[in-house]
Amino acid sequence: MPEWEPVIGLEIHTHLKTRTKMFCRCEAGFGAEPNTRTCPVCLAHPGALPVPNERAIEWTIKLGLALSCRIADRAVFHRKNYFYPDNPKGYQISQYDEPLCIDGKMSVPGADGDTEIGIIRAHLEEDAAKTIHVGGATGRIVGAAHSNVDFNRSGTPLVEIVTQPDIRSADEAKRFLQLLRQTIVELGISDAEMEKGTLRADANVSVRKQGETGFRTRTELKNMNSFNHIARGIDAEIRRQIQVWESGGEVVQQTLDYEVKSDTVTARRRKEEADDYRYFPEPDLVPIEPPRDLVERLESELPELPGVRIQSLKELVGFESALDLVSTGNERKARLLVEHGLDWTTAANVAMNQLAAIDPLPANGPALVELIKQRERITREALTDSFASSATTIIDVKDVLAQTVVGDASELEPLVDRILAASAAQVESYRGGKQGVLGYFVGQVMKETQGKADPKIVNELLRKKLDS
Ligand SMILES: [Zn+2]
Repeated sequence: MPEWEPVIGLEIHTHLKTRTKMFCRCEAGFGAEPNTRTCPVCLAHPGALPVPNERAIEWTIKLGLALSCRIADRAVFHRKNYFYPDNPKGYQISQYDEPLCIDGKMSVPGADGDTEIGIIRAHLEEDAAKTIHVGGATGRIVGAAHSNVDFNRSGTPLVEIVTQPDIRSADEAKRFLQLLRQTIVELGISDAEMEKGTLRADANVSVRKQGETGFRTRTELKNMNSFNHIARGIDAEIRRQIQVWESGGEVVQQTLDYEVKSDTVTARRRKEEADDYRYFPEPDLVPIEPPRDLVERLESELPELPGVRIQSLKELVGFESALDLVSTGNERKARLLVEHGLDWTTAANVAMNQLAAIDPLPANGPALVELIKQRERITREALTDSFASSATTIIDVKDVLAQTVVGDASELEPLVDRILAASAAQVESYRGGKQGVLGYFVGQVMKETQGKADPKIVNELLRKKLDS
């Protein structure tokens, strides 16, 4: 049977976290009461004039540079015409054939080396308002009793990033998105949170036989709200397309939704032809001509990018851990521990597990390392408490070590003897075959030592005495 090769391209939208919207001075942001952040511009009143947000333009250039794009000398805002209730202007201000950032690439590290994914463009546009469908079971328009429109989102600056169809597996798509998201977050231009809708991704998927050079018909997968769902959705669509081709059918160009529960895709609407948006230059805005010194300054401000750091980290902790550390933001914690003398393997482990949801104060670095090195001597509870408090208070190592585990058998033996002597009835029933009574004795020892006794040693001691 011929081998099939998936061909995947991604389209990513991310909200910029500027204080104000793209073309007006309304506050941008997530979570306010509906329709409290609006003005004539973002409500689309006739005659209202847009004024571009300078910060949003700078941040888009910054992202473009991080993606190795060429920054256009001249970029033009266009009107993209379409009708929808959340778009009462009848058009969206977007960029068309002269976008701000062109021809980039991003290296996606993999276990077997890197893959370079081409970036066709990154451009700036405004988001539409948000339609909320009320009364249906699914939250979609089908079955809803009525729909409300919230204009708080209307006019939020949005960057659209379009990749080349260079991605060859669902897993690679997921890694690309993880890395892109982390890059966006580290540039400080967006929170890029899928659950809040500040990062959204659609996938164009087709398959072809190994060795084919052209592309077959592709479909567009929408409505996926986590990286895992995107990967699973792409996999489901690849399976479906292979099945269609192999059974003698033909893949039809269409938009699909991924249904998590059934792990299948369902058709949304059939695309007979490309949408015709009748783009034309926005007459109310002049072209953007980014000065060279601005571009140079933004380039000089770029931090060391996540992909580069994964490269160096994978030599120290292996590829999977390196990817995890960097893409979850736990890397900083591991570096803090290493800086104060912990080995990389232990540091990576602690950063991704015990400290995963905790953001320790940098000043706690030495104390954390000391406690981790001595963790055999500390009760689990004391260690957990110290980790948790490391985000807000300075840890006193001496104080924590005072709550050390009593693991010395000679120290525990007299106590065990005393408890057994005082529990004749329980000893008898244990020796009569009721093994479960052992838990009672362990409990007594823990109570007497205020939880500091090493349970393993206590168990050993008790068995030795009771079974003899
Ligand atoms: Zn406004």
